[in-house]
Amino acid sequence: TQSKRTLLIAGNWKMNKDLAEGAKLASELVAALPEIPEGVEALVCPPTIDLKYVGCHGGILASPIKLGAQNVHWELSGAYTGETSVPMLASLPVAYCIIGHSERREYFHETDEDQNRKARALVAGGIVPIFCCGEPESIREDGTYVDYVCAQVKAGLEGLELTSPDQLVVAYEPIWAIGTGKTATAEDAQEVCAAVRSQLAEIFGQEMADGIRVLYGGSAKPGNIAELVAKPDVDGALVGGASLSAEDFSAMVMKA
Ligand code: PGA
Repeated sequence: TQSKRTLLIAGNWKMNKDLAEGAKLASELVAALPEIPEGVEALVCPPTIDLKYVGCHGGILASPIKLGAQNVHWELSGAYTGETSVPMLASLPVAYCIIGHSERREYFHETDEDQNRKARALVAGGIVPIFCCGEPESIREDGTYVDYVCAQVKAGLEGLELTSPDQLVVAYEPIWAIGTGKTATAEDAQEVCAAVRSQLAEIFGQEMADGIRVLYGGSAKPGNIAELVAKPDVDGALVGGASLSAEDFSAMVMKA
């Protein structure tokens, strides 16, 4: 861990694990990670309904592992059936919240403007957004992926007011690598994470951008995590599939 930024290994459980299964996985993680190595942060993001049980009964809130959510609404309260607000998440407390995941953009038609509203609401409420971006395979193939990803970052985060780089995390997740077993090479990840950081510097200034964590996501696993985080602009991983196994996820935290 040569990076000057604290590495973040974040588990995105997606729509997996009911209460009992979630609490079991959480207990296994707590047992597997009694201490987190210096310079590394570990985070689990269970489904919303599991958050409290995983946090309390599963022991995450009393452990060194952080608790995060997978989605949020930008309004503080009111007639938004089925939604969860920032104050609700903050009351648990939840430390992080994933926004703009490609699955939400694709299946739930969420826009960059939605992400911008969510990011502002989260920062205002003291929760760190993990803003996801990433190109589909067609954009990778036509070679315009850096511009595509930087445009997402700009639209999703412009106007956000930060007082510290710890208030924001960005996750670069090429869609063709998510859940496919096709991990981007460490060089691919570095190329786009560096471009994301340059875009962050345009929005927030270089000093802020140098402190913001930029993660890679897409088939990250114990076998490739060390190589990924060895790259200068890759500050950890957003982990889907491998986060559902306590053995794999804890191995990733220990190897990062
Ligand atoms: P994966 O998912 O690790 O299963 O590819 C990553 C993500 O979608 O965050």
